[in-house]
Amino acid sequence: MVSRVIPVEPFDLVIFGGTGDLARRKIFPGLYRRFLAGQMTADSRIIGAARAELSDDDFRAMVATSIAEYVSESRQDSAMIAEFLTRLHYVAIDATGAGGWAALKDLMRDDVVRAFYFSVAPSLFGDIALRLNQHGVADAKSRIVVEKPFGRDLASAQALNATLALHFDETQIYRIDHYLGKETVQNLMAVRFANILFEPLWKAEYVDHVQITVAETVGVEGRGAYYDKSGAMRDMVQNHMMQLLCLIAMEPPYHFDPNAVRDEKLKVIRALDPVRPQDIVRGQYLAGGGQGDYLAHSENPHSTTESYIALRVHVSNWRWKGTPFYLRTGKRLRARASEIAITFREPPHSIFDDAQGWRENVLVIRLQPDEGMHLKVMIKEPGPGGMRLMQVPLDMSFADALGDDHDDVPDAYERLIMDVIRGNQTLFMRGDEVEAAWAWTDPIIEGWTARGDKPQSYDPGTSGPEDALMLMHRDGRRWREIK
Ligand code: NAD
Repeated sequence: MVSRVIPVEPFDLVIFGGTGDLARRKIFPGLYRRFLAGQMTADSRIIGAARAELSDDDFRAMVATSIAEYVSESRQDSAMIAEFLTRLHYVAIDATGAGGWAALKDLMRDDVVRAFYFSVAPSLFGDIALRLNQHGVADAKSRIVVEKPFGRDLASAQALNATLALHFDETQIYRIDHYLGKETVQNLMAVRFANILFEPLWKAEYVDHVQITVAETVGVEGRGAYYDKSGAMRDMVQNHMMQLLCLIAMEPPYHFDPNAVRDEKLKVIRALDPVRPQDIVRGQYLAGGGQGDYLAHSENPHSTTESYIALRVHVSNWRWKGTPFYLRTGKRLRARASEIAITFREPPHSIFDDAQGWRENVLVIRLQPDEGMHLKVMIKEPGPGGMRLMQVPLDMSFADALGDDHDDVPDAYERLIMDVIRGNQTLFMRGDEVEAAWAWTDPIIEGWTARGDKPQSYDPGTSGPEDALMLMHRDGRRWREIK
């Protein structure tokens, strides 16, 4: 299979926070891979902007190290790396003061796309937006890319939207949710809307329930102070899991167009019922004291922040009436696995005398690891002995289907950055979407805070707290195994 790589327009991409962790781990390695794939024209440039006083050469050396560390060996080509590094420049900048802005303005060119990636703490988003305009660094066609978290509740998200709106039009603002950049997530839309097979069944009449799981094996180590103010609900559910839910639950947009897609997602968020207290399970990992405990990494020894959450959610509309969506995410769980599983209902009547082997059809969309999809279907168990049924997966693993080209599939960040340069906002959250997501999230958090609910402890390396199992058992359902 030959993949087509179309170069994007020439650009000047400024990475605020260009010496930070995200830039070094994701952004520069991703940009190098896009360069290698031939997507960057010769006159495109990447400009690091951060607090440290670095020369262009210091900055290039830092990026070279990040490529060496985070790009697979098979993609390390010293001549190409050297060529890529010539596209890099650096400006020391003070996001909250005047330093560096004139130098940055001098670097900007008029005839290329200008994009500004805010890979800095959210408290600096407003300062940078203001100064980009004040110092004439941005022009009317410039784009800004805003990292997560986008607010910590509705009020702060509204305030941030209002601040950004003072300086940039909504069409210039790209709010990143890197889950939307994942290949499988986009494939979900292709599977739903480019096939006739699934869409007729994609409703409560045929779908028993949906499970969305984002399980991590890592804990909060090193990020304890930040995480403790956030928790799984704010860190994962309000943004990433909400986006996945939207893509499953939304109506077909009239066109694969940024506003058409985002309008449909917004309708889903607005249709979410408030979540009842008995449909929420929160957990915190506890290894019996010591560094393995969540609390060892929190500044508050009595923290009730959840490192795990499971929710039973209802989308209150015609399509989904009676089909619950179960969401769960947590840290220090048994395995690192993100997946969406759509479980279909029983056939209305069994023609087989012995339907003992019968299991539901399940469509599993796996985001990580092993991106791919499989559909579990029933077949006859091979061999003599009558008609016995068994379940087998119809597999579509990207690694198999795409062969050698699989390595060329861009990762989420690089794909999204290229979308910014192309001016395509489809995979970015619109301001009203983020606000609607917080409007649904806030009462849930306020509810457990007012009730004084404490998270249940769970052992690291397990699938989470016991009560989360009950959330499904009482509905006669089971979570899929995390593996
Ligand atoms: P970091 O602390 O590693 O880097 C921060 C960067 O901001 C540094 O380059 C620093 O020089 C710069 N900076 C800080 N104060 C500044 C100022 N006053 N003027 C100019 N530059 C200043 O942070 P990070 O982990 O890279 O995160 C950056 C953003 O990305 C944050 O919004 C974070 O929430 C988000 N994010 C990070 C990750 C991750 O894996 N690191 C994942 C998702 C989202």
